[in-house]
Amino acid sequence: MIEQGRIVVNKQILPCYYCLEIFVPQIAASAHAGQFIMVTPDMGLEIFLKRPMSLNRIDREFGVISIIYKIHGKGTKAISELGEGSEIEILGPLGHGWRIVNNCRRALLIGGGSGVASLLPLAADLAAINTKIDMLIGAASVDELFCLEEFSALADVSVSTDDGSFGVHGLISRIFPDQPKYDAVYACGPRGMLKAVQQWTDKLNLPCQLSLEEKMGCGLGTCMGCVCSVKDENGDINYRRVCHDGPVFNSKEVQL
Ligand SMILES: Cc1cc2nc3c(=O)[nH]c(=O)nc-3n(C[C@H](O)[C@H](O)[C@H](O)COP(=O)(O)OP(=O)(O)OC[C@H]3O[C@@H](n4cnc5c(N)ncnc54)[C@H](O)[C@@H]3O)c2cc1C
Repeated sequence: MIEQGRIVVNKQILPCYYCLEIFVPQIAASAHAGQFIMVTPDMGLEIFLKRPMSLNRIDREFGVISIIYKIHGKGTKAISELGEGSEIEILGPLGHGWRIVNNCRRALLIGGGSGVASLLPLAADLAAINTKIDMLIGAASVDELFCLEEFSALADVSVSTDDGSFGVHGLISRIFPDQPKYDAVYACGPRGMLKAVQQWTDKLNLPCQLSLEEKMGCGLGTCMGCVCSVKDENGDINYRRVCHDGPVFNSKEVQL
């Protein structure tokens, strides 16, 4: 659905990250962890396409959703300039989000860069059913680490940074657990990280879901701008739209 929202908060939380909270009661009421919204950067024609953003918080009681976004180009720059109290057009909630597996006693969440955002509602849902959660967060530097406190309240968190400014120095694969015993692994982040997670979980035969961040045009499955390839049980290659069939896919089927 398209809902005319009101911006409650739009503030810089880190040198290159912003938090946007929007009052959109209808979208908040039907949103689930792992889904995303399309945000209209401006109501004119200059920035024509909406920008896809993962839901970072869903507050159904107050009708508010939040996203954490990084300034990437002109769309996200325009979003960062929208004032609190102003109106904003939101399309959502979109896509198929995280699936909570049956009897999920222990889960591993792996987030890299802005991909960390979409794991917070999942951690909240898993904690609500008493799942023990381990969480790995990878960031370029300490300046790009967000939601650490929120995750620490729900999970046992380990961090790596590319420049060594916080946690283990190096890529997130350096902190993959030695003795992984998980009912589910959930990962969202850059493609290289997802590939490393896929290879690691394949080797250990761990069930894993990956959330893909493809470039998107419409968010509704019509423009075919975000197609990815998947392998079915017979080994045949098919194509799926990340916005409509994902963004969360079974790691065993998606081709990275
Ligand atoms: C399902 C999904 C969830 C996302 N969640 C987040 C999030 O929570 N926080 C966050 O910071 N970013 C997120 N992104 C990435 C974000 O959508 C892009 O950074 C943003 O669209 C860039 O727009 P721009 O105008 O600033 O950049 P430009 O490069 O000027 O954008 C040009 C076009 O490319 C598209 N585009 C550019 N980079 C990306 C990208 N990495 N992914 C998808 N489309 C892109 C834009 O939508 C636009 O149509 C998500 C992407 C997807 C697909």
